Amino acid sequence: MTDLTSLTLAEARDGLARKTFTSVELTDAHLAAMERARALNAYVLETPEQARAMARDADATIANGGGGPLAGIPLGIKDLFATNGVRTTACSKILGDFKPPYESTVTTQLWRDGAVMLGKLNNDEFAMGSSNETSCFGPVINPWRRDGSDAKLVPGGSSGGSASAVAAGLCLGATGTDTGGSIRQPAAFTGIVGIKPTYGRCSRWGIVAFASSLDQAGPFARTVRDTAILLRSMAGYDPKDTTSVDRAVPDYEAAVGKSVKGLRIGIPKEYRLDGMSAEIDRLWSQGAEWLKAAGAELVEVSLPHTRYALPAYYIVAPAEASSNLARYDGVRYGARVDGNNIVEMYENTRAAGFGPEVKRRVMIGTYVLSAGYYDAYYLRAQKVRTLIKKDFEDCFAQGVHAILTPATPSAAFGIGEKTGADPIEMYLNDIFTVTVNMAGLPGIAVPGGKDAQGLPLGLQLVGRPFDEETLFSLGEVIEQAAGHFTPARWWG
Ligand code: GLN
Repeated sequence: MTDLTSLTLAEARDGLARKTFTSVELTDAHLAAMERARALNAYVLETPEQARAMARDADATIANGGGGPLAGIPLGIKDLFATNGVRTTACSKILGDFKPPYESTVTTQLWRDGAVMLGKLNNDEFAMGSSNETSCFGPVINPWRRDGSDAKLVPGGSSGGSASAVAAGLCLGATGTDTGGSIRQPAAFTGIVGIKPTYGRCSRWGIVAFASSLDQAGPFARTVRDTAILLRSMAGYDPKDTTSVDRAVPDYEAAVGKSVKGLRIGIPKEYRLDGMSAEIDRLWSQGAEWLKAAGAELVEVSLPHTRYALPAYYIVAPAEASSNLARYDGVRYGARVDGNNIVEMYENTRAAGFGPEVKRRVMIGTYVLSAGYYDAYYLRAQKVRTLIKKDFEDCFAQGVHAILTPATPSAAFGIGEKTGADPIEMYLNDIFTVTVNMAGLPGIAVPGGKDAQGLPLGLQLVGRPFDEETLFSLGEVIEQAAGHFTPARWWG
């Protein structure tokens, strides 16, 4: 029998429907692969019993001729999604072994459609990071290695466990969240597909909050089609999230394979950074050529406020984080470190429970929101945000359907390579992705090629609000041209 972990999600779905194999077989194959791949540290919690029970249920439903769009499909869940009765930590010590008494809306919808939960996936602590090195469970290892080297590389972050698990065949798809690039950057670093939908497309209810005006959930998978299948189940209006938008969820899969003839694709000149590597430049031109060959029209566009996006993001995101993280006080959730009085207890709990990057964000956020600095920093950053959004709106008003950029400024880097004294080195990873969160737009990362050392590189397509369908159509053109990227197995 073929290795069930190497199927795409769509192939697995079809195989289950034809009864070529059962969900229990498919699930067991993934559980076995997870066991062999513990060196990657992608999962922080495996839930084999729950997985098998869900798989048995799915098999029974399929046998009776029923089953939702994801019936029997094994998935991994980022540890930022609350899972009822199953430990949810955001990979922070401060949540201890918190078991939520509720399920996030996004995961509820995945289970409603028949999916099977394999376990919870590693991420940067509270999703703050670009390399999955700030997790209290330790770093995730990228299944990719440079040619001829066994140096351990990061999978990107913050959804590094999700990306690594999908790339290494430890699930057919995974959930992620993206506040500044946490789906698209790790997808690019691991040679897979990831989409951050429009802000408001997926409910944030039951997802541990980082920066609420930027956070958005989305799927990872090994093909564009598979992410389209997953997004359909994840998306939708939820009255429990006031920012979720009441709009019908289209059949995203139907957009895969649709002609892109006549679509106008913007190439933003401000994304051609000084000192950008020749490899990234080549990848970008190649992507544009592929879209052109498929009948799209390329136009140079200008997004003049691009260079302010990263600094503005690093004011807005920490400001919101400092407010969101105030709830971790040692009383309501997880860990507590006692003190002589209640204030000391708060201080001790937060000092012991938060890692250094989270503390940095809380301090920056508190500073920019404090009286006297609020106008100079926070308010100003909000104004810049409006200008960034307007740049995109102007571009779309000129008839541009989507924008093509590189997903990241480089391929995956080594563990520890960017965790030195200057945090900006790490923050620069998100230079091409944060603008999209600031503007609330959908963005997809699709593998487009490899660097000279054999590591995958990703292209990003940014769309009009709620036009994820065009991104799936364009993404598939790139995928068809670039092919699939599978790491050589070294992890057992
Ligand atoms: N790397 C960015 C940060 O650290 C974005 C993270 C994310 O999208 N969750 O804030």
